[in-house]
Amino acid sequence: MSHPSLKPGVVTGKDYLALVKACKDGQYALPAVNVVSTNSVNAVMEAAAKNKSDVIIQLSNGGAEFYAGKGMPDGFQAKVLGAVSAAKHVHLLAEHYGVCVVLHTDHANKKLIPWVEAMLDHGEAHYKETGKPLFSSHMIDLSEEDIDFNLSECARLLKRMAKIDMSIEIELGCTGGEEDGVGSDDIDNAKLYTQPEDVLKAYDLLTPLGHFSVAASFGNVHGVYKPGNVKLRPEILKNSQELVQKTHKTAANPLDLVFHGGSGSDKAQITETLGYGVFKMNIDTDTQFAFSEPVGKFVEANAKAFKYQIDPDDGTPYKKFYDPRKWLRLAEEGVVTRLNEAFADLRSAGKTLADNSKISKVA
Ligand SMILES: [Zn+2]
Repeated sequence: MSHPSLKPGVVTGKDYLALVKACKDGQYALPAVNVVSTNSVNAVMEAAAKNKSDVIIQLSNGGAEFYAGKGMPDGFQAKVLGAVSAAKHVHLLAEHYGVCVVLHTDHANKKLIPWVEAMLDHGEAHYKETGKPLFSSHMIDLSEEDIDFNLSECARLLKRMAKIDMSIEIELGCTGGEEDGVGSDDIDNAKLYTQPEDVLKAYDLLTPLGHFSVAASFGNVHGVYKPGNVKLRPEILKNSQELVQKTHKTAANPLDLVFHGGSGSDKAQITETLGYGVFKMNIDTDTQFAFSEPVGKFVEANAKAFKYQIDPDDGTPYKKFYDPRKWLRLAEEGVVTRLNEAFADLRSAGKTLADNSKISKVA
């Protein structure tokens, strides 16, 4: 099968849909990496370029706030402007890394709907100016609310997003993990598993309105736990796909599925999800550790350089050790190394749709 080649850079609208289709047809997925700074953004683009893979860069509301600066007086404004600033950084640089980059935001619960709406104000302004939205897709996570409210809110927001060629990611069933207050002990709770009937409801309501993807819960949790505590049941994904396929007589895997909580997951089970229409796997915890671990080692090995500018005993200058570029670069390299593994696990290495002859020549 042949897929369209795309211009390198941020992909939105039809190009994004072509990318999702290529992933599913080729049974591979893209890592969606949470970023908090230009260091993490650039490391993700570097890793994607090295692996000749397309990639998804995403911000949580907290990551966006951090990107704008924790010192900004208005925290809500920081969440909005940080996301806008990060998106503009990626729009400017991504094409020069020679791969396709999807821009996404992460979980937004009921309280964070105004955050999404404010980002859409900026997205609409950007669309007027450039013909492209700022983000390829925003996620709305109303999985704690009742299903009817969840879906009607998602429908309302998707109508607005579709007008500027955006997609929505919704959540059905709740992903477990520390941040959700769901312990790994009561993992066998029905709420942790997406119900195929709910997925069908979402499909019926949202398909006429625009493009959507589904974060489905199949025992996945955010964060990394002791081995054995996470019992994934990827067949849950298969059941949802089959119900929609049977009801609407579609081709196989009609749903575009997202795997949350990819950190620390069993490799064989990651591979299994690729056969069930998963095109995006979120990874955050593992890349956080990959960023910080080399910095810890470096500080440990060069402890004096982080206490003195000049060695008090022998006068050695330590500038080349404490220069932030030295240890931040190690952090970036740590992320690249971890992502090499992710691109291999998700089988996306070497599969970029970017055609570099389409790159603009203005540097
Ligand atoms: Zn998540």
